[in-house]
Amino acid sequence: MSSFEQRRRHMVDAQLARRGVRDAHVLNAMRSVPREEFVSPGLAEFAYEDAPLPIAEGQTISQPFIVAEMIEAGEVKPGDKVLEVGAGSGYAAAVLGQIADRVYGIERHPGLVDAARERFQRLDYRNIELRVGDGSQGWAEAAPFDAILVAAGGPRVPEALKAQLAIGGRLVIPVGSERAQTLLKITRVSEDEYREEERGLVAFVPLIGEHGWSEGHGLGRGLGRGPSSGAKPGSQAHTLEEMIADAAEPLPDLDDPRFGALFDRWANCRVVLLGEASHGTSEFYCARAAITRHLVEKHGFTIVAVEADWPDAAAVDRYVRHRPGPATGELPFQRFPTWMWRNAEVAGLVEWMRAHNETVTEPEWRAGFHGLDLYNLRGSIAAVLDYLDRVDPGAARAARERYGCLTPWQRDPATYGRAVLTQGYRTCEAAVIEQCQALLRKQLEYAQQDQESFLDAAQNARLIASAERYYRIMYYGGAESWNLRDTHMFETLEHLLAAKGEGAKAVVWAHNSHIGDARFTDMGITREELNLGQLCRERFGKEAALIGFGTHSGTVAAASDWGGDMEVKRVLPSRTDSYERLCHAAGLPRFLLDLGEDKHPDLRQKLLHPRLERFIGVIYRPETELWSHYSEASLPQQFDAYVWFDETTAVTPLGPEHAKPGTPETYPFGV
Ligand code: SAM
Repeated sequence: MSSFEQRRRHMVDAQLARRGVRDAHVLNAMRSVPREEFVSPGLAEFAYEDAPLPIAEGQTISQPFIVAEMIEAGEVKPGDKVLEVGAGSGYAAAVLGQIADRVYGIERHPGLVDAARERFQRLDYRNIELRVGDGSQGWAEAAPFDAILVAAGGPRVPEALKAQLAIGGRLVIPVGSERAQTLLKITRVSEDEYREEERGLVAFVPLIGEHGWSEGHGLGRGLGRGPSSGAKPGSQAHTLEEMIADAAEPLPDLDDPRFGALFDRWANCRVVLLGEASHGTSEFYCARAAITRHLVEKHGFTIVAVEADWPDAAAVDRYVRHRPGPATGELPFQRFPTWMWRNAEVAGLVEWMRAHNETVTEPEWRAGFHGLDLYNLRGSIAAVLDYLDRVDPGAARAARERYGCLTPWQRDPATYGRAVLTQGYRTCEAAVIEQCQALLRKQLEYAQQDQESFLDAAQNARLIASAERYYRIMYYGGAESWNLRDTHMFETLEHLLAAKGEGAKAVVWAHNSHIGDARFTDMGITREELNLGQLCRERFGKEAALIGFGTHSGTVAAASDWGGDMEVKRVLPSRTDSYERLCHAAGLPRFLLDLGEDKHPDLRQKLLHPRLERFIGVIYRPETELWSHYSEASLPQQFDAYVWFDETTAVTPLGPEHAKPGTPETYPFGV
């Protein structure tokens, strides 16, 4: 089986069947048409991604799921005669041709029609007829049709198309504004009776023609501030962006105490998870710091748990909680990407936490700074050995022997999995688990001497066991290593809450991809990935608040490749078919959108249907932005609230490579 065929089968299972497409005709047809033949050769490798792709004339080939959904809605079956308006690359017509007896396709761009005809000839698809023209008027000579599918969005349903339906025929068409439409299914019940059904929100390119938009329409699509800039609270909102503007709670300046107070509604949660749409945006860090300060100071949150490595964050924790540090500690956050935690924004929070903790007399009420992540294997091994050297030198010798198994891979643990799998090196699994158990067995004895240091060492030992497995299975790729990492983060959070005692509350900082409930994103739906946000919701229910962050454009600190230098990159304006563009069109510089089920039910309902959302990590590749950084999600199900900054700027890095010559390396303190 060719690799394209394999990917095609996987696409059908993961993107279609799992999302609820049931019609066997549709699934079989989508399994047989080679989508890679309908895009330019440069994009063939993306042919089975869950996304629309560009074709010539500034048009797109629809996302596979939308093609399947429309054909299923049209109830297309063998024997049918079908019309497709907006044939584009010819892909949907080809899929239709695998089911129906005869397919007619209309496309307004002659170049696209020529290319599609040539494809049909090459692939020997003989039951499809194409013509250049305005499909909003239909194809009267070939009518009546059993089904008509329209692949472009117009302002209303063209009467001509309804009239060309056979009795019992189905018309599937997106109708609405230039930015978003409702997918309608219209069934001709009798000569002059039609039944109409709504099938959710979609975003198509415009239908240009006599019964669609006029030529030139949409040239400024989404570039302005949107029609809602002037919408007033309580006004009758019509468009989705106006509804967002009405529901949005404007945020004050970041240093205004009222900023944090807007988040009081989640003060009784056990965990408040704060996301970010990139790992290098100053506003996301500053906003999270403002919210965190407020929750710590006013509502008794004592855990700040971040998507950073445990041993590195532990050094910061000692500093903020005024605890003595080990003499030989390495400077924290030396590993790529250093700017993620060594930046001026985080340093500001760290200094605030230290000053705040100084005013807190009971040590257990001091707020700690902890890392949930598992990448610093070397740091964790050093920390366990250092601890045992101090409390139990005999046990330290045994630990050295066990961890010796991992020694060759400590500097570059990513090579461990490959070595074990391909070169037959022994796995270190048993050794690291044994060491973790040995340490935990002595909990009573060790913790008597110093509870905090024991907790730190125990967490490092757990991390080493997780990381050994993580690096071993990472080599296979796929969901398992991601799931192990997020499960480890969740378990670390649980250990922290348990260690701080009943009623302890945590603020978590991690990327949107970790904290937005994965079950309502492509991660969970098509890739079987779970995440920290999902696990928190499953464990804590309404006592977990998942708060996502987003932006339209600006700058971001990111590298072009893994391990590369940090650059300040320009963030492209958000795509017109994304949630971000809707927020941008709401016309406010920054706001909080409460997505709680009882808050704005109409808006929530309208936002439910999945659309694109941007995810920038430590790498940003604007050249391939759609495929590298956008993914579908249902925002109101993914998050309990969304914090918006229309224009954002890059974080200020403090890593050694950014220091002025001669400045001592002291982040975040003079160790
Ligand atoms: N079904 C296509 C495929 O599989 O590649 C995707 C089509 S694309 C989303 C929509 C197409 O509709 C564009 O190629 C656009 O040129 C075309 N279009 C827009 N208005 C049209 C009209 N009035 N008549 C015919 N085609 C139209």
